[in-house]
Amino acid sequence: MTMDLLTANDRPGRYPASWYAETATPLAPFAPLKGAQRADVCIVGAGYTGLSAALHLAQAGLSVTLLEAQRVGFGASGRNGGQVGSGQRQDQDWLERQAPGAARTLWDIAQEAKALVQDLIAEHHIDAAWRPGVAHACHGARSAAHARAYAERLARDYGYDAVQPLDRAGIGALIGSGSFAGGDLDMGAGHLHPLRFALGLARAAQGAGVRIHERSRVVAVEGGLVRTEDGEVAADHVILACNGYLGRLHPDIAARVMPINNFIVATEPLGNRADDILSRDIAVADDRFVVNYWRLSEDRRLLFGGGESYGYRFPRDIAALVRRPMLSIYPQLADVKITHAWGGTLAITLNRMPCFHRDGGIYTASGYSGHGVAMATMAGRIIAAAVQGDASRFDTMATLPTRAFPGGGALRTPLLALAMTWYGLRDRLGL
Ligand SMILES: Cc1cc2nc3c(=O)[nH]c(=O)nc-3n(C[C@H](O)[C@H](O)[C@H](O)COP(=O)(O)OP(=O)(O)OC[C@H]3O[C@@H](n4cnc5c(N)ncnc54)[C@H](O)[C@@H]3O)c2cc1C
Repeated sequence: MTMDLLTANDRPGRYPASWYAETATPLAPFAPLKGAQRADVCIVGAGYTGLSAALHLAQAGLSVTLLEAQRVGFGASGRNGGQVGSGQRQDQDWLERQAPGAARTLWDIAQEAKALVQDLIAEHHIDAAWRPGVAHACHGARSAAHARAYAERLARDYGYDAVQPLDRAGIGALIGSGSFAGGDLDMGAGHLHPLRFALGLARAAQGAGVRIHERSRVVAVEGGLVRTEDGEVAADHVILACNGYLGRLHPDIAARVMPINNFIVATEPLGNRADDILSRDIAVADDRFVVNYWRLSEDRRLLFGGGESYGYRFPRDIAALVRRPMLSIYPQLADVKITHAWGGTLAITLNRMPCFHRDGGIYTASGYSGHGVAMATMAGRIIAAAVQGDASRFDTMATLPTRAFPGGGALRTPLLALAMTWYGLRDRLGL
């Protein structure tokens, strides 16, 4: 059975019923592609990867056509937890072991990624509600001790001193839950309104001269010819920025980048009770493999993400799924109503590092493994540089080759269910 994630869980051409969609002003629809066009660069997918690449390339004077199957920011970029974490998805210990020659550059790229997000927000006056501060909450003493040692190491070896380690009392005072043994607070990281950020990038790209077409699903890429049902674009360079929705458009990448679904709820506004949940306006992620993450909205709702689900279809009752981990951390919210619940499709790789790949004039970056707000935006800049002849950072990102999932496309679903069950079990047993 082929499962088409671009249509399986959503109404075509519509944003999901998220708190984000309710609190963002959509752009006027962009007309679907009709007929034949020519461009220096054709980009497929208008999430952070595609939008950022488009903006950077148009600013450099290239002609760019951006094709989006649904609406700009329809995918993970318009639905995510909004957390802009430091570093790559794998920590520096891991990177130094796996890619000793590139670990420092990978750190620097991640630092630049966070700065890029903030610079784009400032330069294009995007109402993305950027707030500094991401806490990392550790369930066990061993993980809390590691967080402390890692904060010291980042300061010593990378000159990064924005991470403050926290003991049990410290994390408890910050996040109003007795569940955690310790953790840290990284004031160099931050959080934002993800859909407004995506829409702001789209507006900036349009202003820079990018031709954007929505409701324009790409059905085939043949060399430099990109086809939709009703049109085609001939381009010197093609950028596939489809992330979890790539499907069969590029079978080799699809075997390395696996889509998974993840879920978020918004509660009713908490008023003064919000101070007992988070005493500062920071975001939090815990150390579960099936990670829980949360923060307050501008109108002081709790936005909480988490919950396990297997298979490509969103579960019928997302609110019930996410309520469980939310109440395990905040039992005091048992009486609070959930007003919004939504799902999104992201993409992971086997080693959790994004998959950058180029072959002739075709470029792709995807599989940010839950760490894509900054890195996908940065990928757009890095791909834009590669298209213009400087592939040095693109190639550094590609130095950690992501292996194919065993069995390739056909076996990915059952394998993932198995892996997630194992990791979920591991979480529950505290292994
Ligand atoms: C629920 C959830 C929570 C998350 N939380 C965080 C977080 O807190 N912090 C963090 O850093 N990351 C988080 N992520 C991950 C992050 O959102 C992604 O890594 C990032 O948005 C990827 O951007 P992208 O542009 O590559 O992909 P997407 O935003 O998914 O964009 C891909 C686009 O391509 C379009 N497309 C696909 N196929 C075609 C086609 N054939 N033709 C035309 N268009 C096509 C899609 O419609 C889509 O708009 C989360 C993701 C989810 C789903």
